[in-house]
Amino acid sequence: MKSQDIRTKFLNFFESKKHSIVPSAPMVLKDDPTLMFVNSGMAPFKEYFLGNAQPKNNRISDSQKCLRVSGKHNDLEEVGYDTYHHTLFEMLGNWSFGDYFKKEAIAWAWELLTEVYGIDKNILYVTVFEGDKADGTPMDNEAYDLWKNIIPEDRILMGNKKDNFWEMGEQGPCGPCSEIHVDIRSEEEKSKVDGKTLVNMDHPHVVEIWNLVFMQYNRKADGSLENLPNKHIDTGMGFERLCMVLQGVQSNYDTDVFTPLIREIETITKMKYGKLENIDIAVRVISDHVRAVAFSIADGQLPSNTGAGYVIRRILRRAVRYGFTFLGKKEPFIYRLVDVLTKTMGKAFPELKIQKQLIENVIREEETSFLRTLDQGLLLLDGVISSTKGKEVSGKRAFELYDTYGFPKDLTALILNEKGFTYNEQEFEAELKKQKERSRSASETSTEDWTVLLEDCEEEFVGYDTLEAEVKLTRYRKVTSKKDGEMYQMVFNLTPFYAEGGGQVGDKGYLEVPNGDVVYIIDTKKESNVIIHFSKNLPKHINETFKAVVDAKQRFRTECNHTATHLLHQALREVLGTHVEQKGSAVHSKYLRFDFSHFSKVTVDQLRQIEDFVNRRIDGKLPLEERRNVPVADAMKQGAMALFGEKYGDAVRTIRFGQSIELCGGTHVNNTGDIWHFKIRSESAVASGIRRIEAITSDAVKDFYFENNRSYYEMKDLLNNAKHPVKALQSLQEENTNLRKQIETLLKDKAKNLKNELINELEDINGVQFLAKKVDLDPSGIKDVAFGMGEKHKNLFLIFGTATEGKALLTCYISKELVTERGLNAGQVVRDLGKFIQGGGGGQPFFATAGGKNPAGITEALSAAKNYI
Ligand code: ATP
Ligand code: MG
Repeated sequence: MKSQDIRTKFLNFFESKKHSIVPSAPMVLKDDPTLMFVNSGMAPFKEYFLGNAQPKNNRISDSQKCLRVSGKHNDLEEVGYDTYHHTLFEMLGNWSFGDYFKKEAIAWAWELLTEVYGIDKNILYVTVFEGDKADGTPMDNEAYDLWKNIIPEDRILMGNKKDNFWEMGEQGPCGPCSEIHVDIRSEEEKSKVDGKTLVNMDHPHVVEIWNLVFMQYNRKADGSLENLPNKHIDTGMGFERLCMVLQGVQSNYDTDVFTPLIREIETITKMKYGKLENIDIAVRVISDHVRAVAFSIADGQLPSNTGAGYVIRRILRRAVRYGFTFLGKKEPFIYRLVDVLTKTMGKAFPELKIQKQLIENVIREEETSFLRTLDQGLLLLDGVISSTKGKEVSGKRAFELYDTYGFPKDLTALILNEKGFTYNEQEFEAELKKQKERSRSASETSTEDWTVLLEDCEEEFVGYDTLEAEVKLTRYRKVTSKKDGEMYQMVFNLTPFYAEGGGQVGDKGYLEVPNGDVVYIIDTKKESNVIIHFSKNLPKHINETFKAVVDAKQRFRTECNHTATHLLHQALREVLGTHVEQKGSAVHSKYLRFDFSHFSKVTVDQLRQIEDFVNRRIDGKLPLEERRNVPVADAMKQGAMALFGEKYGDAVRTIRFGQSIELCGGTHVNNTGDIWHFKIRSESAVASGIRRIEAITSDAVKDFYFENNRSYYEMKDLLNNAKHPVKALQSLQEENTNLRKQIETLLKDKAKNLKNELINELEDINGVQFLAKKVDLDPSGIKDVAFGMGEKHKNLFLIFGTATEGKALLTCYISKELVTERGLNAGQVVRDLGKFIQGGGGGQPFFATAGGKNPAGITEALSAAKNYI
């Protein structure tokens, strides 16, 4: 069965069980501070499990892109070494939100695997939670009894808390689970070792394929459990592992999900897969990682230096490294796999196909720059080796290379090994541990349980229509962290505060408490669909009604920038072309930043056109046309622009100004005329094929012009109120150039005259033509004088002293004959005499200089010079 069909069959099966089929959510999470990437099928539905939102259908099924490379689930180091863990994989899932429970979940899983897919029952095992004595969680008897009816009891195994109890986090929904494992070993192997003993033992051919989670408890901050009022089902089956079973192969990499990529790697590198362990690992790493990176870029997450972008960068670098070390690829090649990848996956995930060009560009650029880093790292490593005594490099130095230059430790080890060196691994690990502890303690937070004041109260956002509202606190909690100290998070029954989202910053403002107190709201953020207000303190009378007031000035400036962002987007597509896709947007009160795909620098002329385009629409006073709750399909039909990597509900909000229509949840001015003016401040590159524009509007433009104007008048003032300051400045510059030329000539003349004068002052001491003198000349003039005299006279010993602005300089010139015949050394002379001017210096035996900070010592130094002859 082809992988495409395997996926379709899964979805069709659950559709027949009344599930709504939804597309995969983007992999990069936007409003979940606890998670960077979706790492399981349930992550996009968290708000439903937490009861913060209601799904349209309480049965859902999908195939979700997951990435397990950071945080709680991190399989990165396994990937490539085993044959069944990936960074990016698809998780097939079915969900019940307070609808069906264990009975159906178990029966349907079994029906699908054994009847629809026709997997032999005799290769399947299931596990059931055995209970936990320590915290009193009971065994899952209910699941055991259900399984007993469909599978022989000797195929039901007991599982511990680690494998068979699922928790969303330290707190929140959790429950026991049942896993389904397959044994795909040969009959011969099976006869030797009982499959039962290999379940959950990391055997490559006895693997877990499906996990059924029965969410029935809520874990509180003190660790205790309470029953959930609504029980949920959350299941996840590894798509690639299922393909392995159904295609009768022994490795995920031998399924048609991976073989086209592997064939392409073989063609490009001229290496064969399946012959040598190291090569195989590298091939698996690369075929896996290119998927993770490509999907991430398609979802709008580019490689970068921080956060999620850095994780992606590290994955790509890991792939480059394996290619570099084991496949001998010293030039970019991973980007060349994107073509095959889009051919095999582009149908199920169109975002890949549409953005293929961009994905290729970004990957190639990253590869190129990392290969350069590797080259530099090799040089650095050479330096480290040459400064190492013995054969062991310090672990601290190896860590430095890793930490500062991104030079991986296994590559360090490999290269050192080739040169007969090793590094101290213990020291390295100790440094790594120290660093981890530093970052852990910096990010440590403790979160209290919510204190609920009003039960079952849905929060309503009224901030599109008003900036003030009478509100009641429904729940709050205290969060303590090193970074922010103690902070309160508050949720209200309704709120005018806009929560950070869609690139727009969260509102600030205050609460007016009846007794006259004011509590400041310093930020507003969304977490799993709940609007959370951050404050340093809690209002005294928490049960009262408060007046919540948004900082109108900040909101207005932000709105100007948000509306301008839409107009800018439109302008870019108009002026540069429709290949322009939004790749990132930050809307602040002071400025806006917009990243977009475009392959070359935007010219000054184009920037001008873009600015004009936006300003014409501002001058045109276009009114805001806002529509809420529009079905997605209708919005798209109108020509609204949707973004890759953005999760949209069934009903969306559209924002229209003239011909600009966008799906947008942000806040906007009522009329483009409010923006007053739009000004681009900079245009730059963010990554290959991605440009960034930063711009300002309204008050910020006024400030900008005001500042410019002020410096203009200051400058004009300095130019004695010249009528044409630019001309005045130009003639000043010309004058300056001419004067400089004149000075140069004068100095040359001066040196020449001095030379002639000094020749007359030479004193013959024991056949040495000696002169020690304080002169008033610049260093290069002195050098000219000394060498000029040297051309005409033999046996010279010259020592000059100069004093300028509190600094002293000694210059010594000694003719070559004296150097060779009498062993005199100018370098030594200035080093010795340097002590008189509190300084030092050096140079060659026939010419040297010393600088110092004591001009008063010059006379003494000069008279001491005679001693050398
Ligand atoms: P394992 O113990 O094999 O790592 P898990 O317990 O981490 O699996 P779950 O978190 O229960 O797995 O995820 C549900 C399913 O997703 C698993 O049964 C498996 O089929 C699949 N899966 C999990 N991690 C990966 C991965 N890194 N690559 C591919 N498939 C995976
Ligand atoms: Mg795992």
